[in-house]
Amino acid sequence: TTQAEKHGFQTEVKQLLNLMIHSLYSNKEIFLRELVSNASDAADKLRFKALENNALLESDPDLHVRISVNKDANTITISDNGVGMTRDEVMSNLGTIAKSGTKEFFSQLSGDQSKDSKLIGQFGVGFYSSFIVADAVTVRTRAAGVDVAQGVEWKSAGDGEFTIADIEKQSRGTDIILHLQDEAKEFLDEWKLRQIVTTYSDHLNIPVQMWKEATEESEGPDGEKIEAQPGEWETINSGQALWTRDKSDISDEEYKEFYKTVAHDFDEPLLWSHNKVEGKNEYTSLLYIPKRAPFDLWNRDSQKGIKLYVQRVFIMDDAEQFMPTYLRFVKGLVDSNDLPLNVSREILQDNRITRSMRSASTKKVLSMLSKLAKNDAEKYAEFWDNFGGVLKEGPAEDQGNAEKIASLLRFASTHEDSAEQRVSLDDYLSRMQEGQDKIYYIVADSYEAARNNPALEIFRKKGIEVLLMSDRIDEWLMSHLNEYQEKSFQSVTRGDLDLGDMDNEDAKKAHEESEKAFATTVERFQKALGDNVKSVRVTHRLTDSPACIVTDENDMSTQMAKLMEAAGQ
Ligand code: ADP
Ligand code: MG
Repeated sequence: TTQAEKHGFQTEVKQLLNLMIHSLYSNKEIFLRELVSNASDAADKLRFKALENNALLESDPDLHVRISVNKDANTITISDNGVGMTRDEVMSNLGTIAKSGTKEFFSQLSGDQSKDSKLIGQFGVGFYSSFIVADAVTVRTRAAGVDVAQGVEWKSAGDGEFTIADIEKQSRGTDIILHLQDEAKEFLDEWKLRQIVTTYSDHLNIPVQMWKEATEESEGPDGEKIEAQPGEWETINSGQALWTRDKSDISDEEYKEFYKTVAHDFDEPLLWSHNKVEGKNEYTSLLYIPKRAPFDLWNRDSQKGIKLYVQRVFIMDDAEQFMPTYLRFVKGLVDSNDLPLNVSREILQDNRITRSMRSASTKKVLSMLSKLAKNDAEKYAEFWDNFGGVLKEGPAEDQGNAEKIASLLRFASTHEDSAEQRVSLDDYLSRMQEGQDKIYYIVADSYEAARNNPALEIFRKKGIEVLLMSDRIDEWLMSHLNEYQEKSFQSVTRGDLDLGDMDNEDAKKAHEESEKAFATTVERFQKALGDNVKSVRVTHRLTDSPACIVTDENDMSTQMAKLMEAAGQ
């Protein structure tokens, strides 16, 4: 062992540790789920690397995780023979937080422990959760394929610093040794550990093992001889990948627990869909919709939803090819029987199998949402408030499904007196007036601005509903949404508004007359405003306000112009 080198944690790690210890005390056991899941990831990564370089498995090809307890030393050790870490990897993985959304996460903390503990659950605690139960943690690791002399030892008491030293390590992989706090001694109980493993990690397709003591020869209740058994590592998880089992054999509880491990979420999922597809393409998908939006939802580049497996072998996280960007909140996995095991992101990019799985999964998610909207409006509203803004990117990205996506959209409208977006286009259609052939909407900076826009006066007077839009994305959405159920959309602030059949002859006449009467006024306005406006017109759309600004039918709307300006165009 070389001299240990001292390092400070990144500031965010210190904050995270502090927050975690104070907010997760009632949820201590999750440390084991996190560490076992890391060990399982490490095995997955090695298995994948070994497809190209079988020598990495050395003489130790049976991957496993082993949990052991030392009551005298007060320690629990979680050992794996997975991919291990190099010194550089230890430095960055166990000293910093590299997750996307980290900045947003820390900016949302309020100092209120109960609120913050929910947030931390969403953020995911990972390796650092060791410090919920441990007052000192030692990590000993050696990367696959490197010499035994290139082991690394990391130690920390979770107090802001860690040390790192070179060591010799015979076995490949990682040992995590937790020295338990006095208040966490309960975890020295092996039955308790077994129970936690079966709750959280039963589905992992790597054996999770604990040592079973040898037994001596004994006598059974009826005097029969029971043979002595040698001690052995006993596998305690059932180990069958959950998604490979029959739907009818899987309980809701199991689906929910599984979600927590794939999505790194403390919360239960909002809903899920498990599909086994046979025929031309064979694959299984298990897709979840979370309850709440993650921190980086608005970052279109961070798409961390779908894991790819091929024939039950983990291939990659974040397989963005299987879900369109506007459904980036969907979590889960796809397991293909057709793709090659050595598939790369490049191959996935332009692949017939990928495309057909993506299109089917997209349809699945949309129909899952339709069903929810139909059967449980309240739950759907919860979904909409979290993810509606992302779904609104859909019609632009996925013209083929635009109509389906449109049916899932929800808006504020003049029919309700609330900024909440609850009105569907079907609701709107069902309330259209005799002879109305358009869906009217307005886009403004805020709900209040939309609702108070003078352009709505004539619609209120005629009892015609107008959709009130004020999200940043709405202008973009409306420039890609042309029709719904063969009814076209019409902005009420654009050009010459033709209220169609609803305007009778008398109104037309009155309008012509007022145009004549105001001719000189219009001229004076035109002179005074000069080049600032394209034209000045007499309008019949206002009932209470004297004037309003509109855009020409073919011009960019004022909202769009603002958006473009903000984007530096
Ligand atoms: P996450 O698992 O979400 O990436 P963690 O905090 O749990 O976050 O782990 C951080 C990183 O540390 C992992 O991504 C992995 O690279 C590394 N790591 C943790 N545990 C192990 C392990 N047992 N073997 C190899 N690498 C590990
Ligand atoms: Mg982890």
